[in-house]
Amino acid sequence: MNSRLPVAVIGAGIVGSMVALALLRDGHQVTLIEPGEAGGEQAASFGNGAWLSPASVVPMSTPGLWKKLPGYLSDADGPLVIRWPALPGLLPWLLRFMWAGHSVARVEATARALSALLKDAPQRHLHHAAQAGVADLVVQRGLLYLYPDRAAFHAEALSWRLRRDNGVQWTELEGPALRELLPDVDPRYGLGIRVAAGGHCLDPGAYVAALVQQAVAKGARLVRARATGFVFEGARLAAVRTDQGAVACGRALIAAGIASAALARQLGDRIPLASERGYHVVLAKAPVRLCLPVMPSDGKMAMTPTRGGLRVAGQVELAAVSAAPDWRRAELLAGFARRMFPALSGDAGTDAGGVAGVDAASPTSRWLGHRPSTPDGLPVIGPSPARPDVLHAFGHGHVGLAAAPATAELVADLLTGRSPAIDPQPYRPGRF
Ligand SMILES: Cc1cc2nc3c(=O)[nH]c(=O)nc-3n(C[C@H](O)[C@H](O)[C@H](O)COP(=O)(O)OP(=O)(O)OC[C@H]3O[C@@H](n4cnc5c(N)ncnc54)[C@H](O)[C@@H]3O)c2cc1C
Repeated sequence: MNSRLPVAVIGAGIVGSMVALALLRDGHQVTLIEPGEAGGEQAASFGNGAWLSPASVVPMSTPGLWKKLPGYLSDADGPLVIRWPALPGLLPWLLRFMWAGHSVARVEATARALSALLKDAPQRHLHHAAQAGVADLVVQRGLLYLYPDRAAFHAEALSWRLRRDNGVQWTELEGPALRELLPDVDPRYGLGIRVAAGGHCLDPGAYVAALVQQAVAKGARLVRARATGFVFEGARLAAVRTDQGAVACGRALIAAGIASAALARQLGDRIPLASERGYHVVLAKAPVRLCLPVMPSDGKMAMTPTRGGLRVAGQVELAAVSAAPDWRRAELLAGFARRMFPALSGDAGTDAGGVAGVDAASPTSRWLGHRPSTPDGLPVIGPSPARPDVLHAFGHGHVGLAAAPATAELVADLLTGRSPAIDPQPYRPGRF
């Protein structure tokens, strides 16, 4: 067993911060390298939909997706868009992405591997939030999928079968029971599927900041720098190079979100990683009673009650990381929220407390972030095949917030030399 290893963790998003805490618990010396604010707007961990969902086991690529692709390419207002200039560069990733969903058997295997990281996510986060002194930031009130009717629910039969096969349980709500839970939602929604085990985070950015603060209180060193490469002495890692100088270490972990692939490449690892760019808007004064997060089947976006207000997060925009934001996509989210909650589009001259003169329907903030996505829908976790002193923990795509604690346990097992509680095979970096 390895103990008291000097480990450099590159990136202090939800993954890096969770790994840092797990390594400190195991007695390692941890240095966190992060150029921005921990949990700041630059991180995907800041602005996500805040779902902690054991039900997020359904990959994006499923059989038959290819039939929908031309529609996506031509519908500029759809939930998935590809910006034409990015298409040639994205083609290899897209082909692998389509292949990953080509058969039901493949998708079943992906769902099983996702479930291993997600099934206890709410409990794990409740524990971590309490340990970090921010117990109020994580709640478990369930999650609700909304459908216009039963036919729309049955159209997603594969998704619900995958969830059931992986132990997800739900209850159905119709009529008065649904209205009682969601009094302000448009009556066109007739069926709600409630996953009671689901949880959510009320402020993911503040949560990550608290985790990093806790890591520092437990002895981690936080270096405000950008990692630029690695220094090896023979086969052994000696340091992580940064724009502020070298950080000596015996092991390193790449957890830099969308920036991870470029670092991995320096080791000789070619990991296909694309940004599934996503947006959020926050309606701070939404006059909407919402006690749990909701996902409408016709919008595929998260409507989450957060500390800052109603957060509407979603959209997949395949484009270069550096491309300018297309804020029309954020407006599409806000527009959908207005259609979903009529109170937002009516006479929106009062806020939730009935104060006149506040435009409740206008976003008070908007954000663009980068889901770090592999084409097969699974993260990359484990030692670099080329340089095993460096481990990878990135590529969590749509589920990184929820999957971070289990990822951290797996990394800690691998790095400490214990037999891992979660089978690392599906996430191995050499699989591409
Ligand atoms: C719109 C949207 C909605 C989402 N909804 C959900 C959801 O509801 N539930 C869920 O579980 N997931 C959701 N996700 C996905 C989730 O947010 C991500 O998978 C997760 O945040 C990734 O975490 P990370 O720590 O890997 O990366 P990040 O949070 O991006 O953190 C990476 C960190 O590395 C730092 N960094 C970058 N380069 C370097 C470098 N060279 N050196 C050092 N540090 C560096 C960055 O500054 C950053 O702080 C959503 C994502 C988006 C965009």
